[in-house]
Amino acid sequence: MSDEEQKSCDHDGCGCRVALNQAFCSVSCQMASESQMVGGVCECGHAACQQRQ
Ligand SMILES: [Zn+2]
Ligand SMILES: [Zn+2]
Repeated sequence: MSDEEQKSCDHDGCGCRVALNQAFCSVSCQMASESQMVGGVCECGHAACQQRQ
């Protein structure tokens, strides 16, 4: 049983998990997506995300 469903962050370069009621894991992902700075490198600062290269 999971009391909190999760999905992937809406930023293409980010592999973080966020709650269903959130679009992005962080403000940096939101800004990167809005400015379309999709370079494959995520700057959200989450260690688990930066390990995915
Ligand atoms: Zn990320
Ligand atoms: Zn993210």
